[in-house]
Amino acid sequence: MNFQLFLTCLAVQTLVHVSDAFVHHSSTSSARRSSTTAFAPKSDQPSSYNGKLNTSSRSSKSFTELMMEVIDCDVAIIGGGPAGCTCALYTSRANLSTVILDKNPGAGALAITSVIANYPGVDATISGPDLLDNMRQQAVDYGTDYRQAQVFMVDFDGEKDSKTIYTPDLTINAKTLVLATGALGRKPTFKGEAEYLGKGVSYCATCDGAFYQQSPVAVVGTTPEAMGEAEFLTKFASTVHWITRSPIDPNDENAQQLLSHDNVKHWVNTRMTVIEGDASGVTGIKIKQKTEEEEEHLETEGVFIYDAGSKPITDYITSQLKFQDDGGVEVDDEMATNIPGVYGIGDIRNTPFKQVVVAASDGCIAAMSIDKYLKGRKSIKVDWIHK
Ligand SMILES: Cc1cc2nc3c(=O)[nH]c(=O)nc-3n(C[C@H](O)[C@H](O)[C@H](O)COP(=O)(O)OP(=O)(O)OC[C@H]3O[C@@H](n4cnc5c(N)ncnc54)[C@H](O)[C@@H]3O)c2cc1C
Repeated sequence: MNFQLFLTCLAVQTLVHVSDAFVHHSSTSSARRSSTTAFAPKSDQPSSYNGKLNTSSRSSKSFTELMMEVIDCDVAIIGGGPAGCTCALYTSRANLSTVILDKNPGAGALAITSVIANYPGVDATISGPDLLDNMRQQAVDYGTDYRQAQVFMVDFDGEKDSKTIYTPDLTINAKTLVLATGALGRKPTFKGEAEYLGKGVSYCATCDGAFYQQSPVAVVGTTPEAMGEAEFLTKFASTVHWITRSPIDPNDENAQQLLSHDNVKHWVNTRMTVIEGDASGVTGIKIKQKTEEEEEHLETEGVFIYDAGSKPITDYITSQLKFQDDGGVEVDDEMATNIPGVYGIGDIRNTPFKQVVVAASDGCIAAMSIDKYLKGRKSIKVDWIHK
């Protein structure tokens, strides 16, 4: 494990929690630089999934309770998309204690898909979020413990059946670990994004928001994740500039909730063109409104970007995992990686077959392999035997 990184993340977590208590009393904006950047912890829902997207950003547990929470389980699954939920459904049914850690139910590829017409056996007009809700609920009904929590680090370099997974509020010790975080990761694309990553540019408000006490920040993106994270920032920032390229659906409850905060300024039909800064980090951004000729300068100390890309999301993995040349996690026919007890499923494998039905299939294969692995079987056990 990268111990220094762990300590840094722990310090950031502590700051986030403590800041919750002091936000209304502090006006400090100097300690604003992110150290987590690509690591993006978030954990808001200590209870099992209730079928609704929870946009409130902190649980009501005390600081000590949150920091102390440690769960032991047979199977930890990072990612609550179709791959993760299917795997959980199978492992839970096989009586293996299973926890899904999912950064946001609205953040994955299926969650942002309007209609899924090619998933067999369901109404061809079903929306991605509805199909995903059904899958998640089915896993929970079989006993899966679903947590909204963003993983920032995993450690599987220790003993054979001991994998440790770190989120801001929760640590999981699991016998087996399933990587199912999909492929919506992105490379920096905005001018200045790469230069100021970790120096004001961040992909995680929950990790870095507390650095911006009474400072102006910008949030770019329209996904439920972007809106939830922007709302989290309203607790700290003096102004949250919310920048969206297109208008927002007036019936979108997440958007209305966000816009109800006095310190949110919505820049609609607007693009961010440049992130500017100096040796201390981000100092501002340039934006271009569709209706205006000229670009405008906005003073901001933090820029939180929630645009999706198409890179496997693996930035929380620091251990010795084997990757393919294209960045996908390398697995065998049983979805097993080169580390015993660690599996990779769905889009994180970066195969050309990025489809919901394939992700679900990967989840099933991994679950049956895990059952074999944990129970020391020689062969896969199926639910049915034809005689
Ligand atoms: C616009 C679009 C349209 C599509 N249309 C279709 C279609 O019509 N039919 C079809 O079959 N397929 C379609 N696909 C592909 C399909 O959605 C994907 O193949 C499938 O969702 C992959 O499933 P997954 O579980 O691997 O990843 P995802 O669905 O991407 O889920 C990944 C999960 O990981 C979580 N996560 C990420 N990072 C972390 C972290 N650090 N900690 C905790 N959790 C994390 C996310 O919150 C998310 O819930 C489409 C994809 C897109 C983008």
